[in-house]
Amino acid sequence: MSTVPEMFGSLVFDDRVMKARLSAKVYASLKKTIDEGASLDSKVADAVALAMKDWAVEKGATHFTHWFQPLTGVTAEKHDSFISPSPDGGVIMEFSGKELIKGEPDASSFPSGGIRATFEARGYTAWDPTSYAFIKDKTLCIPTAFCSYGGEALDKKTPLLRSMQALNKQALRILRLFGHDEVKQVRTSVGPEQEYFLVDRKMYEQRPDLICTGRTLFGAKPPKGQELDDHYFGVIKPRVQAYMNDLNEELWKLGILAKTEHNEVAPAQHELAPIYATTNIATDHNQLTMEIMQKVALKHGLVCLLHEKPFAGVNGSGKHNNWSMATDTGMNLLTPGETPYENAQFLLFLVAVIQAVDDYQSLLRLSVATAGNDHRLGANEAPPAIISMFLGDELTAVLDAIEKDEPYNGTEKTVMRLGVHVLPKFFRDTTDRNRTSPFAFTGNKFEFRSLGSSNSIACANIMLNTAVAESLKQYADKLEKAEDFEAAVHELVRSTLIAHKRIIFNGNGYDASWIDEAHARGLADLKTTPDAMKELLSEKNMAVLMAHKVMSETEIRSRYEIMLENYCKTVNIEALTMIDMARKLILPAVETYSAELAESLQTKLAAVPGIAVGYEQKKLMKLSALEEAIDGAVDSLESVVVELKGCADITEAAAMIRDKVLPGMAALRLPCDEAETITARKDWPYPVYSDLLFGVK
Ligand code: ADP
Ligand code: MG
Repeated sequence: MSTVPEMFGSLVFDDRVMKARLSAKVYASLKKTIDEGASLDSKVADAVALAMKDWAVEKGATHFTHWFQPLTGVTAEKHDSFISPSPDGGVIMEFSGKELIKGEPDASSFPSGGIRATFEARGYTAWDPTSYAFIKDKTLCIPTAFCSYGGEALDKKTPLLRSMQALNKQALRILRLFGHDEVKQVRTSVGPEQEYFLVDRKMYEQRPDLICTGRTLFGAKPPKGQELDDHYFGVIKPRVQAYMNDLNEELWKLGILAKTEHNEVAPAQHELAPIYATTNIATDHNQLTMEIMQKVALKHGLVCLLHEKPFAGVNGSGKHNNWSMATDTGMNLLTPGETPYENAQFLLFLVAVIQAVDDYQSLLRLSVATAGNDHRLGANEAPPAIISMFLGDELTAVLDAIEKDEPYNGTEKTVMRLGVHVLPKFFRDTTDRNRTSPFAFTGNKFEFRSLGSSNSIACANIMLNTAVAESLKQYADKLEKAEDFEAAVHELVRSTLIAHKRIIFNGNGYDASWIDEAHARGLADLKTTPDAMKELLSEKNMAVLMAHKVMSETEIRSRYEIMLENYCKTVNIEALTMIDMARKLILPAVETYSAELAESLQTKLAAVPGIAVGYEQKKLMKLSALEEAIDGAVDSLESVVVELKGCADITEAAAMIRDKVLPGMAALRLPCDEAETITARKDWPYPVYSDLLFGVK
């Protein structure tokens, strides 16, 4: 295959293939299901299954799988082959509509947070026809939702689809009031920008912490870090370029619109951004992207790190969730137009988002809460744990005018003058960038920047869609009864602004003074995962998720358990890895080097009695003190881990992790990192930060 258009989507059972391979009747019926959510006839399902199978087999596929996203954050698949015995002793390749629509993976190996205890271990996967099937590793992958025998969602896709449905319903009510009878669907779209690190595979394999936890648990600050800012937009290194080219091709074949790629702020850090797509497809694609990124890296002798904070003291990795709402007629509901002040419909959708973010700050915050992301949020390189919104000067001025009931003349658009005649003149963007805000308006979309690089984007979008659906519902309830529609819209926009303007902050979110101001404004400051997760069970948050039928009470409680269980397991593995590395690698290395020093001291003294050995002595004393400190810290950490084992309640366990285990880990890291800086390089048991950060040429 040569050209990009030929390659693009070649492994996807997309609209082009459907049109070519299905009868007109079957195609029309399937389209109705995809576009309007009409239910699917079993005959149609059989016809689609047959066409899918033939297409896949022609492309070399031998197996099929229901591909889904369990609550662990990765994707799951159980492969079945197409083969079926034929009477003559051979095999035929078969795949029925029933197999396409429903699967029965063993649910018992996936977390269910208590749902399993009360229901059967059986689980079902159900085909999501709105996301195209694709071929990966000779397997036809069918995107599915995953639920329990009792119908509770055991995955991230089901509530995501429900939240999209909730937003669609309420947004349509509003659009009808503005006279848009032609609109049939409102969908949210997302373009997730994905950050990642690339390290050399051979070096990675020498670090048990990277292998077991995806991040370095030890490592002294290197002499050169990211101070010079020379990596961002710097020349991409040849090995990395080869990786990116290969990655793009693999993603294009899967119909993923990988568009931009560049270096990021930290050395060895990069970013990939796709062109945005409907939220559930963007979610599937982002999960696939993360998987393919890691796979392709191995082929290039690299390892792709998706952890939020692989290196202490170096920028972490996030994922920017660019989000907007658009109609099936192609109208972006967040486009301000030429005169935003006069664009009542835009203003109403805008304040709906403002209210949603303010009312449900804690849902947004907890949607990105993981052990990994806790290291990143608020670390002066990523948005703080406090959720606030950036609107830019122009919109803020518009909203100010509305609030004060004053006329708005518009900010003069500035023509950029570069002083060179041959360069075209262009207007300066009035939504100047503020990189420090967790939730920024960027022209015709919002960018939610708190997501961690390894997060599934499903969680954030479930909460965002639901919260916006709730604001829109409140507005529709009021406006449908209004006598003077225009006056009512104006009043609604104005009163919403007054009630929710505390969430708007255009200043520097990394500034320490913002934290104080945010507290004074009464904004939530949920620093850690346990702090944030408990908010999921608050009356208000549960009520909104249940009212819009996004999650049932059982589902909410099960998610609470699973998220905290994940947090506890993750940190527990980290603590055990640290204990192991300190005892088996670090202490022995310090011992070896100390013995060498002692020997050299003896040899020197024997050769020249009275010779100065102050250097050796000083170093030996220092190393010995560090050894004692490390030994003590390992023992303390171990006793906390033992204590944790005895804790049966997940909420208590998570608090113990936050208050005892993580501080114990930090206390152990300190003397180990110091020992690294004074131990001979040849004796240190694994590659250090500068090797990892600058090792890929
Ligand atoms: P930056 O790095 O400056 O934030 P990028 O161009 O790297 O911006 O990424 C912007 C992302 O936003 C892309 O994935 C793009 O497709 C996406 N995007 C653009 N318009 C919309 C929209 N209307 N809705 C959702 N996402 C959008
Ligand atoms: Mg961005």
